[in-house]
Amino acid sequence: MKIYMSGKLVDEKDAKVSVFDHGLLYGDGVFEGIRTYNGKVFMLEAHIDRLFRSAKAIDLKIPMSRKEICKAVVETCKANRTYNGYVRLVVTRGVGTLGLNPYNCKKPQVIIIAASIQLYPEKLYKEGMAIITVGTVRNHTEAINPGIKSLNYLNNILAKIEAINGGVMEAIMLNTHGYVCEATGDNIFAVRGNMLMTPPSSAGILEGITRNIVMELASKNGMQVVETNMSRYDLYTADEVFLTGTAAEIVPVVEIDKRTIGKGKPGPVTLRLSEDFHVFARSNGTNIF
Ligand code: PMP
Repeated sequence: MKIYMSGKLVDEKDAKVSVFDHGLLYGDGVFEGIRTYNGKVFMLEAHIDRLFRSAKAIDLKIPMSRKEICKAVVETCKANRTYNGYVRLVVTRGVGTLGLNPYNCKKPQVIIIAASIQLYPEKLYKEGMAIITVGTVRNHTEAINPGIKSLNYLNNILAKIEAINGGVMEAIMLNTHGYVCEATGDNIFAVRGNMLMTPPSSAGILEGITRNIVMELASKNGMQVVETNMSRYDLYTADEVFLTGTAAEIVPVVEIDKRTIGKGKPGPVTLRLSEDFHVFARSNGTNIF
């Protein structure tokens, strides 16, 4: 595998990061996870825009232009023949001293890995997933805003540990007000009748690119799409619940906190949106080849 690093493609065995990189020492950096479908990079510009917003929010100057990064992503995919795959784009603060001061790090490091990902077993997409709400509260928006896709994922990892130790694969995190926020790496939706509900950005979520597409597709299908604060009540009483994310795509949820959601199997709205999403994803994107 060829990895993009320090401005060029290098062999995987040579793709090494310094122990003094603040990305490693402090989780100081930002990243994106991007999919390729059918030989095209899906929603590349939206991901690059979010990367630059995340970087701006932590006062990290990415040493490349948007255009240069797009080109580097495409080149890395081409070199690895990433026809249907997953790209991890990482910008670390770079090498610094053993102290927090980020301004001692003079050269942020841009890394691109073009590979593949399978977050959950295929079976869960057909039968639906059981999840739980956990005690780990999502980061407060004025502490580490969840809108920043930073390399510091400990908040999410702590919730993931609770989920796995609780016997399920995914967790729902609530915010400091007790409202539903998001899963550890996915956004959450609930269906009630013709209404599709999802927490607003102000609830302290990462505004998912998959989320935004699903909202558009649902509107096109004549659904009423509402961004609203949701409590666990709204999940427990929903007809359907599903998760969305670049890596996860669309995952039906059929059980929350041991309660059956809807009919206990993937519902018609989830299945239709998943189908529409894949049709859209296969036909849109930036050509690699
Ligand atoms: N929330 C969190 C915390 C995430 O890490 C992600 C991305 N994995 C998402 C939501 C979904 O965002 P996207 O659809 O842009 O991948």
